[in-house]
This record gives sequence, C-alpha cells and structure tokens, in this order.
Amino acid sequence: MSAPEPPGPHVAVIGGGLAGITAALDCADAGARVTLLEVRPRLGGAVYSFERDGLRIDNGQHVFLRCFHAYRALLARLGSERGVELQPRLEIPLVRPGGEVSVLRRSGLPAPLHLAGTLLRYRPLSLRERLGAVRAAVALGRLDPRAPELDRQTLGAWLAAHGQSQHATAALWDLIALPALNLPADQASLALAAFVFKRGLLEHADAGDIGFHHRPQGEIVGEPAAHALRAAGVDVRLGWRVERLVAGDDGFEVWRRGSEVDDENGHTGEGTTGGERWDARE
Ligand SMILES: Cc1cc2nc3c(=O)[nH]c(=O)nc-3n(C[C@H](O)[C@H](O)[C@H](O)COP(=O)(O)OP(=O)(O)OC[C@H]3O[C@@H](n4cnc5c(N)ncnc54)[C@H](O)[C@@H]3O)c2cc1C
Repeated sequence: MSAPEPPGPHVAVIGGGLAGITAALDCADAGARVTLLEVRPRLGGAVYSFERDGLRIDNGQHVFLRCFHAYRALLARLGSERGVELQPRLEIPLVRPGGEVSVLRRSGLPAPLHLAGTLLRYRPLSLRERLGAVRAAVALGRLDPRAPELDRQTLGAWLAAHGQSQHATAALWDLIALPALNLPADQASLALAAFVFKRGLLEHADAGDIGFHHRPQGEIVGEPAAHALRAAGVDVRLGWRVERLVAGDDGFEVWRRGSEVDDENGHTGEGTTGGERWDARE
C-alpha cells in the first residue's frame, strides 16, 4: 500500500540548485505534492564538491553575508548551520603588492557610521581620497536601486561624477564590485551596485559580516538536501533534463530529453524522449 498523497496541488520544480531545493522544500512544507527534476546526477547546482588528484575541491558559494537571510534559512532547514561560521564583525585583511596589509573592519556604531572609522584609516587611499570615499558612500546609500535611470549608468561613471579617482575606484570600490557583481565598477550597473552596497554594507551595520564554510559544500548543501527532500516527501528525479513545458487546460506537460546522464555537467546522451503531465489544481 502506498502512502496517501498530500491534498495540495502538484508542483514541478525544475532544477535542484539552491533556488530549486528551497522552492521544493517550501512547497512541500506548505502541503503541495512536489516533484523536483534535476539534469545532473546530484543536487546543489553550482554549489558542489568534487575530487581531483586526491583533493576535495569546492565550487560556488565560498562566502556569504549575514544579510543572506534566504541562504541562511536554507542552511538551518538542512541542519547545516554547524558547517558554517559567521564573523562576529566584518573584518577583511587586504594584502597589497609588496606585502603591505590593511584591514577593513566595521566598528560597533550603527550604520552607516560603522564604516566611517575604517574608511578614514584606510591607508591605500590618501587622506583626501578617504574623505571623498566617505562622502560617496553616504550618497550611494541614498540612491533608490529601483529607479530605472540607475540601470542606464555604470557604477564607475557615478563614482567619477562623485569625485572618486581611478585609483580610489581600483583600491576601494572594486574590492566590493568585483566579487559581488562579477564586474569592475566601470562595467557594473549602478542599479545593481546600489542594491548590493546598500543591502550588504550601508543599511544595517551587521549585514556585511562574512560567513565561511568549513565543511565541503557537498556536505553542507547537496547531501543534506537529498535527505531533507526525501523526508519532506519530495519526489526527486536526477538525470532529468526538462526540455519543454506544454500548458494544457488542466495542467502542464513537462517533457524531457535523454535518459542517461553522461557527466557532472549534466550533458545527456540522446536517449528516449518522454513526457509527463502535472495536475494544475490550485
Ligand atoms: C565558482 C563559483 C563561485 C561562487 N562563489 C560564490 C560566493 O562566494 N558567494 C555567493 O554568494 N555566491 C557564489 N557563487 C554563486 C552561487 O553559487 C550561485 O548564485 C547559486 O549557487 C545559484 O543557485 P541557483 O539555484 O539559482 O542556480 P544553479 O545552482 O545554477 O542551479 C540550477 C540547477 O538547474 C539545473 N538545470 C538547469 N537546466 C535544467 C533543465 N532543463 N532540466 C533540469 N535541470 C536543469 C542545473 O543542473 C542546476 O543544478 C559562486 C558561483 C560559482 C560558479
């Protein structure tokens, strides 16, 4: 005799990365019957560990911030909080060519004063550049990231218009823009930059405290997610590449291509094409 199915709607979640795992668990917790379809042979998406020459190497999500509330909630849901550590206070040592070390650290003051002291002592910048950086940070914190005109200019152009030299941009602003936006200030959208700087550094004093993983990422996300999804009753199908969604009157058909997964990147062979139908009851 099979277990009775939950009375809620039947939900298909496509992709078993952080977003898919979170969506599947949330839907299952809310009473839905959930099927998660993932092309790779494992869960975790971009966040995973692999072996190379006897070493276990991590890919993706090396650090996170205290303000990553959704990610931290997922870690708690997976019972993985013990595999990570959050700095009590933001502290980033910076080593310059030649070996000179300077440290960016926040004080115990409320935002945005928590960064004023460290900016005013930041040796890679001249005193004039430090004062200018404080003024620019305050102005950046006042921008509304949702304003459409912000997406039409770059962070670099905005910084230049607010008195930031190329040297100050490279020695300070790019330290945040490059890892957080994957682009130097000269190429990054001002809208995205304003969002990241405000949310991560300027609105709440503790938002930018950095979190580290001290267990392999596969043990922190993929493996516990497999257990948590199973315990929540989610039907997890690995090696399932969704190719097409077809809307019908009473649901969706989710079509896949290929039935065998060849490698870690989810490249599939030319297997059978199958279709499945999902009930779209509200
Ligand atoms: C090298 C690297 C370092 C990073 N470092 C950091 C960091 O330090 N801090 C940080 O915050 N972020 C970092 N990131 C980014 C972070 O890892 C990602 O933003 C996050 O993992 C994305 O999760 P996701 O679920 O949105 O997408 P993904 O992880 O990409 O998940 C999508 C999933 O969908 C599956 N899929 C796609 N198409 C189909 C299909 N047709 N059918 C079935 N399944 C499908 C994929 O196989 C994948 O498993 C890093 C990323 C990389 C690659």
